[in-house]
Amino acid sequence: MLVAWLAGCSSPATPQPGAPPSSPAPATSPSAPAGDRKYLLERVDDAAVVQLYADGFASLPLKQKTLIYHLYQAALAGRDIFIDQKHRDALEMREVIEQIVAYPSGVDPATLAEIQRYAKLFWLNNGPYNNLTARKFVLKLTPDALEAAVAASAKAGAKYRTGSETIDQKLARLAPMFFDPNVDPIVTNKTPGPGKDILQASANNLYSGVSMADLTGFTEKYGLNSRLVKRDGRLIEEVYRADGKYGAYITEIIKHLEAAKPFAEPPMAKALDALIRFYRTGEEADRKAYDIAWVQDKNSPVDTINGFIEVYMDPRGVKGSWEGLVFYVNQEKTQRIKTLANHAQWFEDHMPWDAKYRKPNVQGIVANAIDVVVETGDSGPVTPIGINLPNDQSVREQYGSKSVALSNVNEAYDKSSPGGMRGEFSWTAEEAERARKFGTFSGELTTDMHEVIGHASGRQAEGKANPQALIKEHFSALEEGRADLVGLYFIADPKLVEIGVVPAADHQDIILAEYEAYTRNALVQLRRVREGTQIEEDHMRNRQMIVRWLMANTRAIESRTRDGKTYLVMVDAKAFREGVGRLLAEVQRIKSEGDAAAAAKLFDTYGIHFDAKLRDEVVARVDKLNLPSYSGFVMPKLTAVTGANGAITDVTISYPQDLTKQMLEYSGVRR
Ligand SMILES: [Zn+2]
Repeated sequence: MLVAWLAGCSSPATPQPGAPPSSPAPATSPSAPAGDRKYLLERVDDAAVVQLYADGFASLPLKQKTLIYHLYQAALAGRDIFIDQKHRDALEMREVIEQIVAYPSGVDPATLAEIQRYAKLFWLNNGPYNNLTARKFVLKLTPDALEAAVAASAKAGAKYRTGSETIDQKLARLAPMFFDPNVDPIVTNKTPGPGKDILQASANNLYSGVSMADLTGFTEKYGLNSRLVKRDGRLIEEVYRADGKYGAYITEIIKHLEAAKPFAEPPMAKALDALIRFYRTGEEADRKAYDIAWVQDKNSPVDTINGFIEVYMDPRGVKGSWEGLVFYVNQEKTQRIKTLANHAQWFEDHMPWDAKYRKPNVQGIVANAIDVVVETGDSGPVTPIGINLPNDQSVREQYGSKSVALSNVNEAYDKSSPGGMRGEFSWTAEEAERARKFGTFSGELTTDMHEVIGHASGRQAEGKANPQALIKEHFSALEEGRADLVGLYFIADPKLVEIGVVPAADHQDIILAEYEAYTRNALVQLRRVREGTQIEEDHMRNRQMIVRWLMANTRAIESRTRDGKTYLVMVDAKAFREGVGRLLAEVQRIKSEGDAAAAAKLFDTYGIHFDAKLRDEVVARVDKLNLPSYSGFVMPKLTAVTGANGAITDVTISYPQDLTKQMLEYSGVRR
């Protein structure tokens, strides 16, 4: 499952378009980020192209670097599987556009510019479908213009694989996919309309010629890892395994996993062995054995996800999309999570609510903060920000799961988002500057507390063991609000300095940055509700509720206008914290006592309804800033340094800062 770290709490979610929910930074030195290096590389239509950095890699021991290097090769080796899963023509289409981009000499400049735009969108989305809308995007050229570009590039050295066709025949065959928005328009269509078939209406390559009716009475043996094909009136499972479908890619993946094994710690080596076995046999029992071995490897400093994992592309929700991720634990940030968890009892004892609702024995929740080195297939260039696996419910119940927060992805989201948003909604330049300097750090710290000591805290009154059943539709928003309030309350506590998670010198700025950002968000988030006058989403409700309650019950926040624009201004941090403590006490009481009426009143008064005119104003201001809808990442590049005997003596990391260069390199296309 992909989980958004801040906004998610186990609810499946993708990163919020254009504005990441959370934003981490170095724990010990929030004021010393890695200089002014480049994060936002370019914009392509509504996408942002962003460089991902993995700062901790260089200081890992050689054994771990070598392990990561081989796993990185394994992740790259499977990359094309996912592109082929997206659409049966996608790899051929990619070859055409990559050859033109790589050998552009003699191509008409306007044609080339359009092909470059299309190529970048294709790379970011792993095919011709927009990853947010699932709809096809097309090449805005005439078929003749593409043909001319192909001819020119061939003269310049481009090579086109044509098989038994001529290049013209090949282009004619691919033309409907390149140019016609009505041919295979949607990659995954779960609601195609009455009388239509979800498999027939979906353009992906997980099925061929199959409709839902064909599945009646058919026993699927390889649900997760096969393509289902109807041939001569019969259903055939083309199993993804070393001697089956995608066998060449899988064999290459296995080779790199084998090379990685000697550098892995025993529990991880065991998991890699299980994965290799599964790739060879494709059998369900081996997949399950792998899931178990993977989840039991809890302490490895390096980890990988490599396989057919998430099922979102399949309208049936059965077939796995291939993905490859490699990452190492960000010890510094994980340390902060662990430090908070270790002091969970202290925080519990100091919760600003009635002592009878404090837990005598509280355990903080532990997860890992990680830095990703590479993400391919279903997980890159567009990436989740949190992951919780395995998906197999029976394994989860018996063996648990592993949760990771992708720290460097979050950081890159944050650093690449245009400062315009902060500036537009900050009352003063100082506030905007504080957000720039400390917002990343304070946001992530508050999120950590939300997760680690927020959700884990509190106890129920006698006979009220199931607050969810009592509070019903307001429960989720109340619980998210409770966790947020715990973070907001303790971020201003000197205890954080004492236990070393906040530098004393920056504490005041961190408090202000968090309170100001939280306040601004009540206004800025209205852009997401473009119709109606009600907030539906639970996290948005709780955030609206907290700010509006503080406005009604404290003097911490003022609504001001300037040049016809509305601002929410946090003017008194002490009053803010005092109010947060009071509200938290009440929210905990509501939860502990299952007081549904009070919960309903709280959200109805402060959390749900908003002024449409104010929303329209916010939408207009945000649209003017031209923010991207989604981001795709250029991955770090690893290079092995080998000694005389061929053994790896070092692995260096570099940052290409160029999507085109990286993609051509991945495809093995040289200019
Ligand atoms: Zn939560």
